Amino acid sequence: MTAAILDGKSLAKKIENRLKEEIQRQIEGKKRPPGLAVLMVGDNPASAVYVRNKERACQGVGMASFGKHFPTETSQEELIGVIRQLNEDERVDGILVQLPLPDHLDAVSLLQAITPEKDADGLHPVNLGKLVRGEKGIRSCTPAGVMELLREYDIPIEGKKAVVVGRSILVGRPLALMLLEKNATVTIAHSRTKDLAAVTREADILVAAVGKPGLITAEMVKPGAVVVDVGINRVDGRLVGDVAYDEVKEVASYITPVPGGVGPMTVAMLLQNTYQSYLQRVNG
Ligand code: NAD
Repeated sequence: MTAAILDGKSLAKKIENRLKEEIQRQIEGKKRPPGLAVLMVGDNPASAVYVRNKERACQGVGMASFGKHFPTETSQEELIGVIRQLNEDERVDGILVQLPLPDHLDAVSLLQAITPEKDADGLHPVNLGKLVRGEKGIRSCTPAGVMELLREYDIPIEGKKAVVVGRSILVGRPLALMLLEKNATVTIAHSRTKDLAAVTREADILVAAVGKPGLITAEMVKPGAVVVDVGINRVDGRLVGDVAYDEVKEVASYITPVPGGVGPMTVAMLLQNTYQSYLQRVNG
């Protein structure tokens, strides 16, 4: 059996085309366009690529982009000041701080400075708290993108065993909660997990969000499992995930490629979150 592809690239395109039409309609109805501000500090080359992709996608759907790039030495106070201004700026519906940040900056307090209604990345404690409580709120983009991909392909979640490898606040933890919200039986594995293969082999839905190329091999996957690869690693100038794709695709029923799987979905969810915030703001 060779796995079917969970094609994040084409689903992201579909979502972005739909957003583009909706935004066009809003503008024809004399409304302002939605606005997104992506803040980047320093010159991490991977972040620069992500930020460029986000800004391009934002313009591609007709959103206004208020992106700002700051030098590495920018102070915490200055960034908080910029975030406060953006919180008040009527043209801005979504604010995102690209992570990771230079060492002298405190990501947690910067993310807290963003007003929860404009927290396009869904990482403000209020939005994370709503996720924990199962209330409506802005969901963080990468895990939301994974859920959207599973939905598009009608992957059953209720009653299934889901294993999420990785427990970061950005991906693993919120994704585990979203799978739980859909009634999966969820296990979170991490760097201290004993016998990872025994845990992953139990999974009907296996998600790798670690950042270690080739971590998930074919013998760690239950035949017929759905495998989602969140990892992005650069190996010899090529982008690869955490899953040994060529061998795992022979065991899994569905698999996400890297690139072209979860990555584009993250961007689509960012735009969708910003558009939702916009609708709330323009429609009250
Ligand atoms: P992180 O470094 O914050 O977390 C990694 C997690 O992996 C930790 O919880 C750790 O416990 C776990 N881990 C480390 N070694 C392990 C091992 N040997 N076995 C099991 N677990 C182990 O990373 P992150 O921010 O969650 O990102 C994870 C990966 O996802 C990275 O490759 C990142 O680039 C990628 N990522 C992709 C997207 C996307 O849009 N596709 C978005 C965010 C992150």
